[in-house]
Amino acid sequence: MAEELRYIVEIEGLSKRFQQPDGSWVEAARDVNLKVLDAPGCGEFVALLGPSGCGKSTVLKAVAGLQKPTTGSVRVDGKTVEGPGRDRGMVFQQYTSFDWMSVQANVEYGLRLQGVRTQERRARAAELIQQVGLTGFEGAYPQTLSGGMRQRVAIARTLANDPRVLLMDEPFGALDAQTRWSMQLLLIDIWDRLDNTVLFVTHDVEEAVFLADRVCVFSARPGTILEEIEIPFDRPRNLETKTSAPFNEMHERVLQSLKRASQT
Ligand code: ADP
Ligand code: MG
Repeated sequence: MAEELRYIVEIEGLSKRFQQPDGSWVEAARDVNLKVLDAPGCGEFVALLGPSGCGKSTVLKAVAGLQKPTTGSVRVDGKTVEGPGRDRGMVFQQYTSFDWMSVQANVEYGLRLQGVRTQERRARAAELIQQVGLTGFEGAYPQTLSGGMRQRVAIARTLANDPRVLLMDEPFGALDAQTRWSMQLLLIDIWDRLDNTVLFVTHDVEEAVFLADRVCVFSARPGTILEEIEIPFDRPRNLETKTSAPFNEMHERVLQSLKRASQT
């Protein structure tokens, strides 16, 4: 008997309209459809790529359960999304760690809420802090850290909940180019060892091509997915990937797709 395909994320016919303060309506997203297979042992890394204001964050927030779609539906692991849940973790561009808590306390926060006992919590947090390269900064407070380090804290905090789906909304958008590169490498390195699905929003073609298995190219507002492009490069990827000829070709192809999409 043919086995039924299971999807970890299913977005069907999602549209979202917002009423503006002057009473007029803005359609942020229209008929967005996306399916991500639930592949055992390895999640897919999907990039949502589009120009600023095309509705990418709106779609991601619907998956996070932070915003209800106007029409259509989102299912995660077969269940319709009704609100936020621990199966989904979100990392935003703005720094969202608790400034009054140390790095250690920030990373332990979710585990504490779950009632994980102190010793196990410490051990798990230490492991995550090590993974994101913050060993030695356990006692530091986020506002004393650089932007890149703060995002490391945010990633560790989010991973502590072990979400099935990691939602990232331009997480490196506020960082300088150098830091951005090192954070991309860090994310790839961490993700290679996990089996979560990642939905990663970006307006940066290079970032999308470097990180993702599949790039979903959005039209201008109201945003809809006009093209899905598979990115076949082997993993683990590294800085050499970025300078290879196939990478440049793929970059060009996605860029052209984005240009076409922005004109529709
Ligand atoms: P992107 O993330 O691609 O930059 P967004 O999803 O943030 O785009 O926004 C798409 C459009 O929807 C924008 O025109 C934005 O102003 C509008 N929008 C987003 N959120 C709201 C909201 N809560 N209320 C009103 N308008 C909104
Ligand atoms: Mg956005």
